[in-house]
Amino acid sequence: MLGPPREAVLLSVTGVVQGVGFRPFVHRLAARHGLSGWVRNGADGVRINVEGTAEDLAAFARALRTESPPLARIEAIERRACAPEGLTEFVIRESEDDSDQRQPVSPDVAVCPACLNELFHPANRRYLYPFITCTDCGPRYTVIEAMPYDRERTSMRAFAQCAACQGEYDTVGDRRYHSETNSCPDCGPRVWLEKGDGTVDADPDPIAATARLLMSGAVVAVRGLGGFHCVADATNGAAVERLRAGKHRDAKPFAVMVRTTTEARALAHVSEAEEQALESRERPIVLLRRLDQTTLAAAVAPGLNTVGVMLAYTPLHHLLIEQVGQPLVMTSGNASEEPIATGNAEARRRLARIADAWLLHDREIVARYDDSVVRMAGSAPVFVRRARGYAPLPVDLPLACPVPLVAVGPHLKNTFTLVHGRRAFVSQHIGDLETLETLEHFRATLDAYKRLFRIEPEVVARDLHPGYLSSRLAEELGLRVIAVQHHHAHIAAVLAEHGVTGRAVGVACDGTGYGDDGHVWGAEVFIADLTTARRVAHLRYAPLPGGDLAARLPWRVALGYLSLEPGAADAFAAAFEGVADRERTLAAQQVARSFNAPLASSLGRLFDAAAAILGVRRVAQYEGQAAMELEALAADCEAEPLPFPLTDDGDGQWQLDPVPLLVALGERRRAGAPVAVLAAAFHDSVARGLAEVAWRAAQLFETGRVALGGGCFLNARLLTSLRAELERRHLEVLVPRQLGPNDGAISYGQAAVAAAILRSEGCIP
Ligand code: ZN
Ligand code: ZN
Ligand code: FE
Repeated sequence: MLGPPREAVLLSVTGVVQGVGFRPFVHRLAARHGLSGWVRNGADGVRINVEGTAEDLAAFARALRTESPPLARIEAIERRACAPEGLTEFVIRESEDDSDQRQPVSPDVAVCPACLNELFHPANRRYLYPFITCTDCGPRYTVIEAMPYDRERTSMRAFAQCAACQGEYDTVGDRRYHSETNSCPDCGPRVWLEKGDGTVDADPDPIAATARLLMSGAVVAVRGLGGFHCVADATNGAAVERLRAGKHRDAKPFAVMVRTTTEARALAHVSEAEEQALESRERPIVLLRRLDQTTLAAAVAPGLNTVGVMLAYTPLHHLLIEQVGQPLVMTSGNASEEPIATGNAEARRRLARIADAWLLHDREIVARYDDSVVRMAGSAPVFVRRARGYAPLPVDLPLACPVPLVAVGPHLKNTFTLVHGRRAFVSQHIGDLETLETLEHFRATLDAYKRLFRIEPEVVARDLHPGYLSSRLAEELGLRVIAVQHHHAHIAAVLAEHGVTGRAVGVACDGTGYGDDGHVWGAEVFIADLTTARRVAHLRYAPLPGGDLAARLPWRVALGYLSLEPGAADAFAAAFEGVADRERTLAAQQVARSFNAPLASSLGRLFDAAAAILGVRRVAQYEGQAAMELEALAADCEAEPLPFPLTDDGDGQWQLDPVPLLVALGERRRAGAPVAVLAAAFHDSVARGLAEVAWRAAQLFETGRVALGGGCFLNARLLTSLRAELERRHLEVLVPRQLGPNDGAISYGQAAVAAAILRSEGCIP
């Protein structure tokens, strides 16, 4: 008897569909629906040819989307009817690589629950094996050299699978079917512990030996997924102090790793949203409100009420923490601001002054990949640093860029963005472009992205500042250059990720950026779209004695403000306690002679001035420290806002004048008001002042939309209270989601602006 007629379709699936168990999934699905045909990887995604009844084909196509494996991200499925060939079975065919198309690469993700079970199951053949993975978990981006994703194009190439592993790899029903990182203790990478004298520790269990070292207070450099960590027992004050001394890091907080959310709850408050972030397969470091009484050494995060916590994400981490039984400080394996070390030889050399021993392995790290950092503003995560788990997934632009483009990003906290069409591949965190090592990291990572995604840029976008190393890098490329003002880039990044091409009010609250007028900007209100930003309001300018130096010397910022209101010396007095007369005189002369005292309208610096005047911090050990401490002090304190008047700058723009605000803070402190209440009042005054001017701009330019960008919005209290003020005025508020408010988003903003400009020109590069 003849059944219903058989038809055939060719499906092209694009998105993250390689290295994520997609082909075996398709195989299972085809079997379930009684279809014959084939599936294979191509350079632009996965191709599927299936034959069967129309009904079965339709059901199959639906399930492709709804049941796809956990790591897959389907962007599109293109469907073409073709002639049935009378195939009788379904097979997985060899990869083809015959086109110049491009596709996303999966980020690395945490070990999955199934693998974790096997890891601690004594009967499993991978019991305690630190490189256990399957198609649902483990390294991806950090092992891939080129696409399409096959073992021969990864650093797993060095490890030929044993018969048992090969069996799993070839068995369609197996969780490790075509798992390119598949290995076991017999055939995979190994770990060993190297001591300070360069000899290998004799203990047959190097992880147990490492745990003993950590418990005795040693600092161990541990090779991980995307680089080294410097590791110490987080409950051992002496060990953490030694780690600080070795890294030349006086005060910047360290992140801590534990195994479970329950363990995290012994250290910090964990909300439901924070729990979700901690346990997500991306496993970022989550900044949590620290408990008063914990086992953590004070040196982990001095002076802050927060602590960065992440859950173990590799099997090796699980094994190590299981043995140590304590939270571990896991800080990046580098000295001060250099990029993290990735290679064994490099780590031995660069971490020699920090580590007592090295826990090494022999799976080469193709891409350097820092831990990502998020914090919660309400229930939504805000990126502090976007890297592991997220990059190199693209963040779409609202409109396609007519030519391939690279945006080189800012000077500090650099990322770059490589664009093809609507896809913007935002790099992982690169770092501060101030050392040769970071510059090398930038170049190598850009080369890798160009190779992986097959994009050869024809136009380059850079910051407006001509002197930045990133600007010089851009000029060296010999392409057409489009310069983008820093804060326009901040606002454009937020508009673009929300798919907005029209105009909006942009509120940029930031440390510093080079302004159109040559002054230092950092608290600007724009009426902006992707191509242009017109400044309509700003913070009143004040001299910044010492320029960049002032970012670490809040008392200098206060001195600059005092020069605008010399009669307020008493109110400002606390800012200069403990400052040497000579230094103060020198700074005052810089202001008086306008020598190395650029005019600045930076909100980050205003936070510094307030912290100094409140006696909270006069000298900072890292940029942003004063503001973080001010936020910690304010906590959930209620306070009445103080005066923060809006005036005319005499040049057709509004200006917010912070001098009365600073004077009020100083006077109230002298009158005995609690510093915490004043810190809270400062936050709320700033939020209210900004909301007022943003609202006026929205009225004037007839838009109902406000975008918030810039590093100051890492301050959760500022972000949430400004947002609430704006929403009370019935404005739609766009906040950074996929990339975070700080300079990590600048390259994407530059790309969005350059793409919009190129489109408006009709696109000739
Ligand atoms: Zn797994
Ligand atoms: Zn094996
Ligand atoms: Fe910025």
